[in-house]
Amino acid sequence: MTAQRIIQVALPVPLRRVFDYLLPNEQHKTAIGARVEVPFGHRTLIGIVLKHASQSDTPTDRLKPITTVLDPTPAVNDELLQLLLWAADYYQCPIGEALQAALPVLLRQGAAMTPQLSTAEQCWQLTTEGLGLPDNALAKAPKQAQLLHQLRERPGTTWQALKEAGFARDALLRLQEKGLAHTCAAPPITNSESPLNLNAEQQAALDAISFERYQTYLLDGATGSGKTEVYLQAIARLREGAEQAQTLVLVPEIGLTPQTIKRFARRFGASVAVLHSGLNDRERLNSWLRAASGEASIIIGTRSALFTPLKNPGLIIIDEEHDTSFKQQDGFRYSARDLACVRAKNLNIPLILGSATPALESLHNVNTGRFQALPLRHRANRQAAPLINVIDSSDHHQGLAAESLLAIEQHLAQGNQVLVFLNRRGFAPALKCRDCGAVVNCPNCDARLTLHHNPRHLHCHHCDFQRPILRTCESCHGHHLEPIGQGTERSEQALNQRFTSVPVWRIDRDSTRQKGALEDLFTRINSGEPCILVGTQMLAKGHHFPKVSLAIILDVDGGLLSADFRGPERLGQLITQVAGRSGRGDRRGEVILQTQNRHHPLLQRLIQQGYSAFAATLLEERQMSQMPPFLPIALVRADAPEADSPHQFLNQLRQSLAPLAEQNAVQMLGPMPALMEKKGQRYRHLLQVRGPSRHALQAFLRALAEHLDSIKTPRHLRWSIDVDPQDMS
Ligand code: ADP
Ligand code: ZN
Repeated sequence: MTAQRIIQVALPVPLRRVFDYLLPNEQHKTAIGARVEVPFGHRTLIGIVLKHASQSDTPTDRLKPITTVLDPTPAVNDELLQLLLWAADYYQCPIGEALQAALPVLLRQGAAMTPQLSTAEQCWQLTTEGLGLPDNALAKAPKQAQLLHQLRERPGTTWQALKEAGFARDALLRLQEKGLAHTCAAPPITNSESPLNLNAEQQAALDAISFERYQTYLLDGATGSGKTEVYLQAIARLREGAEQAQTLVLVPEIGLTPQTIKRFARRFGASVAVLHSGLNDRERLNSWLRAASGEASIIIGTRSALFTPLKNPGLIIIDEEHDTSFKQQDGFRYSARDLACVRAKNLNIPLILGSATPALESLHNVNTGRFQALPLRHRANRQAAPLINVIDSSDHHQGLAAESLLAIEQHLAQGNQVLVFLNRRGFAPALKCRDCGAVVNCPNCDARLTLHHNPRHLHCHHCDFQRPILRTCESCHGHHLEPIGQGTERSEQALNQRFTSVPVWRIDRDSTRQKGALEDLFTRINSGEPCILVGTQMLAKGHHFPKVSLAIILDVDGGLLSADFRGPERLGQLITQVAGRSGRGDRRGEVILQTQNRHHPLLQRLIQQGYSAFAATLLEERQMSQMPPFLPIALVRADAPEADSPHQFLNQLRQSLAPLAEQNAVQMLGPMPALMEKKGQRYRHLLQVRGPSRHALQAFLRALAEHLDSIKTPRHLRWSIDVDPQDMS
């Protein structure tokens, strides 16, 4: 009898270990990285084979055999498996959970690794018979006749496009039944756009990139300096060297608009595959498969697209690398930017990080020689950087200072567009009683309820709690509740009342909830008519609105006074990004910052000397306070419905680990309440862990995670480890 063979399987369970199973003899070899179905308690789970072993800690007669081998070839190739193993260790995440996060949903559920077009993606054309049909043949069925005409004009149209053009599915199926139309392969898209002539700075940046080996480049270019053109030409150059070479492009969640995709598609045609949360599971899997097979040569996606398998990887690009959406905030808390460095290094290919406002981490990496800077100092349209004015906002009408109103009027009169930025959606951030001063709070969070007018209700932006608008104060029963402060809805209303001759477009999560709404707004804006745009974050990033000549930022004070150590960095990035939306056309841009802290030294430094000088100051401060990027930190978070238990839990943890911390020269600070202590009916505390080096911190965190796994946690308490946290909340 042959020896039983044992395989180690990673399963999507929150346990920091792998599980041993038996491989029945008739199943010859199971590839490492293949998916298998296994019994787990009373359930069946899908896991990934990590290793073959000859023995197990569990007696062989207690091991269960796997149920099915799902993949003849690995779903997770060796390169990705190594990356994920590294990441699971670095971020203290169970490997099963990391693998889970990296796989498309359908593969997690056991779907086969074969492409299958969704109905919407199917392309249609006429059969020979359909092509030969005389024009009047379908006179009795006008809808089918129109469809026939359409398909004759545009063979290979997708069902999605036909539907959008107003055709009914029924008519299409009738044509198919009659043998007049059938599905077909997608027609090749011909590349229609040719590259621009690079300016000297762009050319120097492109020429500095070496495609043969690993190096991270920081394309540090002002907004509108033509970074995207450099990406496009870097991709083209890569493909001159090796036609099959693939590029992975990561963009922030908000940045992956149809505009961005079109820009790449216009240059590179059908070889572009897209991966983002707006796709359905089938479309995602199809893109993933096209990347894995090498059929797609440019893959554009958001954070998790980093884990896309590539047949011939040649280049990774991360646009707006400072963006916080590259860090996953729950479960597998990885940074796609940092892992991209690891992946590029493993693959020995270049990585380009681009931003007008690089993260302090990246600037530090340039300073220490790890990254190579590729500066673009000038705007591609030769326009000078926008002129920034700081004005006092204590005296205002509905949030807008008199000077701002005047400036809006002037810019509109000259036929331009104006952008008003405000990072708060809703009508007003608080509802307050004029009699007793009480504000209406969320019952679940340490937060105020935001007043919304459209539709009318009170809403907690932290836990989603909603209630009707109160008529009387809950404390004193007075009848004088009034909205305090400005939200986008309120600014929209005020601007509408004041500027009646131009449209005011509000752009925030509420106004763009419907699919295609944002696209429609962009189309209108880019038609160029004078208008006012009021919006949040969504307006700040990446968009190109050539007619916007004035950007007004209401309330920059929140960021200046933020308790989070990254607050000032984020504010500087935001101001610079919003400012960068203005003056992208033929007129020099103007920016107005409304603040009650005009003389704040950081704000002054940013405005007078720009983001680089501002960032340099922040880096000095971080060095003095020994914060990242100078010392690595991690947070251990704990939360529970009981107010005391997270604090006690973390305190005990701190005491138990004190000797080990000392050994590794690791510092523990806290426990302390999170910036918002109560959120969603749970109390949240955190312990900050700071290492003298990554290596020491990692060793300590490994032991810490093991310790946490081994102790009994109080009921209802949850804990998590966040390495390189992006915020202290
Ligand atoms: P960024 O990505 O740095 O914000 P973009 O790549 O969007 O900048 O470029 C801003 C504008 O300048 C775009 O309209 C782009 O077409 C134009 N542009 C970029 N490079 C050049 C160039 N070399 N010559 C002319 N126009 C350019
Ligand atoms: Zn709440």
